[in-house]
Amino acid sequence: MKLILISDTHAYHQHLQIPDGDVLIHAGDLTRIGELKDVVAFNDFLGTLPHPHKIVIAGNHDFCFERKPDEASPLLTNTIYLQDSEVTINGVKFYGSPWQPWFYDWAFNLRRGAEIREKWDLIPSDTGVLITHGPPFGYLDKTSRGDHAGCEELLKAITRIRPKLHVFGHIHEGYGVIEGQHTTFVNASICTLDYDPTNPPIEYNWSQGQ
Ligand SMILES: [Zn+2]
Repeated sequence: MKLILISDTHAYHQHLQIPDGDVLIHAGDLTRIGELKDVVAFNDFLGTLPHPHKIVIAGNHDFCFERKPDEASPLLTNTIYLQDSEVTINGVKFYGSPWQPWFYDWAFNLRRGAEIREKWDLIPSDTGVLITHGPPFGYLDKTSRGDHAGCEELLKAITRIRPKLHVFGHIHEGYGVIEGQHTTFVNASICTLDYDPTNPPIEYNWSQGQ
């Protein structure tokens, strides 16, 4: 099963060259400032892609999914939308969640510590692919100012659950891959720090029993 990983396209999806694969995953920030029209445009774009399975979560820019959930998520007709929820494809459990530690009063912000931990406690222990908008602490989470913006509580959850793959974005300048002992970490941000949509999608080959 070939997974194609993208994130943080911020309405620049039309610039992308997306490789073929079995599952296309978008880890949030599909819009600029969370407008419904950007969701419609992104969904239309998804409709042109051949991937048999598509999974999308929201990010901190995607306000409409937090403020108008009854209007926003039904617009995504060409993909599965996950929000603290799961889907199983070819026997693999994918779990998606948009929350991140408080970040300049954007969407899906929660306080570090107990408040955000409640969300990570919902992740099923048999999750194979975890999709969150924000990174875990210490993994591809370094900002241009040199701070680690990732979530400590999320790292604890990953250490416990050991998903084979963790896909996220949010910190554009953290784009890249780290092979951990139990988990491969992918920051799939397409946009750079300056919002140039120039980072290529990342491919991941899922093999059973690996
Ligand atoms: Zn972003």
